[in-house]
Amino acid sequence: TDVFASTPQAPADPIFALTAGYQADSFKQKVNLGVGAYRDNNGKPFVLPVVRKAKQILAADESLDHEYLPIAGLPAFVSATGKLIFGADSPAIKEERVVSIQTISGTGANHYGGAFLERFYEPWLGKSKEDKVIYVSNPTWANHKAIFNSVGLTPVDYPYYDPQTIGLALPKFLEFLRNAPKQSVFLLHACAHNPTGVDPTREQWQEIAAIFKDKSHFAFFDCAYQGFASGDLDNDAWAVRHFVSQRIPLLVCQSYAKNAGLYGERIGALNLVASTSGDGPGGAARLRSQLLILQRQEISNPPTFGARIVGMILNDADMFDEWKRDVKTMAGRIIAMRERLHDLLVNELKTPAPGPNGWDHVTKQIGMFTFTGLTPPQCKAMVERGHVYMTGNGRISMAGINDGNVEYVAQCVDKAMR
Ligand code: PMP
Repeated sequence: TDVFASTPQAPADPIFALTAGYQADSFKQKVNLGVGAYRDNNGKPFVLPVVRKAKQILAADESLDHEYLPIAGLPAFVSATGKLIFGADSPAIKEERVVSIQTISGTGANHYGGAFLERFYEPWLGKSKEDKVIYVSNPTWANHKAIFNSVGLTPVDYPYYDPQTIGLALPKFLEFLRNAPKQSVFLLHACAHNPTGVDPTREQWQEIAAIFKDKSHFAFFDCAYQGFASGDLDNDAWAVRHFVSQRIPLLVCQSYAKNAGLYGERIGALNLVASTSGDGPGGAARLRSQLLILQRQEISNPPTFGARIVGMILNDADMFDEWKRDVKTMAGRIIAMRERLHDLLVNELKTPAPGPNGWDHVTKQIGMFTFTGLTPPQCKAMVERGHVYMTGNGRISMAGINDGNVEYVAQCVDKAMR
C-alpha cells in the first residue's frame, strides 16, 4: 500500500506562482510587481555597495573557518542587532533586559516569537490552542497566519485597513484594542505595513500605545522593513521605541532581507524585552535559556554568512554610514516612483480613481508596497491584458517600477480603471 496515498495536493504559493507566470510570459513589456524584492532602476536585483565591500573583506580573511556558530548566533551580530531597532541608548538595553537570538530571517523570528509565547506567555498557561489567540491586522502578510497556526496559536483578524479611504481604519482598530480581553497579544507591523503600505502616524501610534498600556496588551512587533519606509533607520524604529519607553511588554522580529538586500542569506533576529535583567522570575537570562532550547530543537545553529556581513556593517562606523546611504538610495527610488506614478495617473492620464481621495494613497503609503485599490477583476485585467503581474488583492510592489516601465504601468492601470 502507498503510505502517502491520502496526502492532499496543496495549492501553490500565490506569490511564487505569479513569478512563474511572469517568467513564462514572452511579452516584451511584461512587468513583475508581485514579489516584494527591491530592484534597481534597470529592474535588476540590487547588491548593496556596502554588502559588496563586506563580502570582499570576508573573502580576503584567511582566518575565517566554517565551524558552527554558537546556538544564539554570531556574537558580533547578536550583540548589535538589538541596538539597531531599540537604539543604542534604549533603556531596555541599558537595563540589560533585551534578549536577542539570530534567526532564519524574519520568517524564523516570527516562528520563534510565536513558539516562545505559546510555551511561556503567562496568561496562556494551561490554555488550549483556541484560546491562544494572536490578533493580526486585516489584511496582513500572507504567511503570518500559517506561521502562527503551525506553532499552536490561533490567529484572529483585527480591523486595520479601510477599503473606502484606502487608509487606516483607526477608530475601529482602537475600539477593537479597547474591547479585547486584557493581556491580549497583537501583531503589529513596526513600519511599512505589508500588504497595505498604510502606517499609523506618530500621534496615532501614541493613541494605540496608550491602550496597550491601559489593557496590558502584548505587542508582537514584526519589523521586516526598517529603513525601507522613510529611508531612515531610526525614524522607522520610532513606534517600537515608543512602546519600549511606555514599558509595554513586547518582542520584535527583525529581518535583514530587504534593508540589506540579503533575501537569500536568511539573516534576522528575535528580540525579547524582559521585565528585568538577571535570572530571577521573568528575567532576561531565563528567557534567553529558553530561546536557546528553541533554536537547538529547530536548527541547532544558525548560518554564518549573512550574520558575518550584517555583523560587520553594524559594528564598523564607516560601513554603518555607508549602509545608511544605501538604504536611503533604495527608499528614495521607491518614493520617487510613487510620485511619478501618481503624477501620470492624476495629471497626464486623468485616470478614474478607486476611492474618494483620488490617487493620493499612492504617495501617502509607505514602504515596498502600494495597495492600489484595484478590484480583483481589475487586477486580473492588469495581468492578462497588460502582462503586469500583481496579486489579486490590488497590491503592487513599487520596487518593480522604474523609469523604463512606469509609463507603461500607468497606462495599464488607466485601462483597467476605465
Ligand atoms: N514579515 C513581513 C511583514 C514581511 O513582509 C516579510 C517578507 N515578505 C517577512 C516578515 C519575512 O521575510 P524574510 O523571512 O524573508 O525575512
